[in-house]
Amino acid sequence: MAQAQAAASRAAIILSQRVMLTNARIAVVDPSKCVGCLTCVRICPYNVPQVRSEATGVGDIIGAAYIEPATCHGCGSCASECPAQAIQLMHYTDDQTLIKLDALFGREILEEGFLPIDKIRVNTREQL
Ligand code: SF4
Ligand code: SF4
Repeated sequence: MAQAQAAASRAAIILSQRVMLTNARIAVVDPSKCVGCLTCVRICPYNVPQVRSEATGVGDIIGAAYIEPATCHGCGSCASECPAQAIQLMHYTDDQTLIKLDALFGREILEEGFLPIDKIRVNTREQL
């Protein structure tokens, strides 16, 4: 009984807020790319993604994934596993990550897919 009251109390605290701030790092689905494979539904450790029948997926199929921003923990597991690349993690989108890699390592890593061994520089403690 005490546990139920505590749970209800915690829920009331959340529900009484007029505005609820959420984590900015959340996963977002582009339904036009979603094939409804349920990979994100199975892999999410927090059971957040749902495939909703009212949404339209790739090729006008019935059903596409939806991720509720308020409950997403932003772990990125679904974005990395989605076979259709239909999920992007806000602030860590593919474009943003590639730009960061470009800034860190230069063009080679983007064009070749890897950094040639002769381009890798390891600083000694004295050089740091
Ligand atoms: S893993 Fe990707 S393609 Fe599959 S249901 Fe989720 S969002 Fe859609
Ligand atoms: S980012 Fe993590 S918590 Fe959010 S829906 Fe994807 S797997 Fe679940």
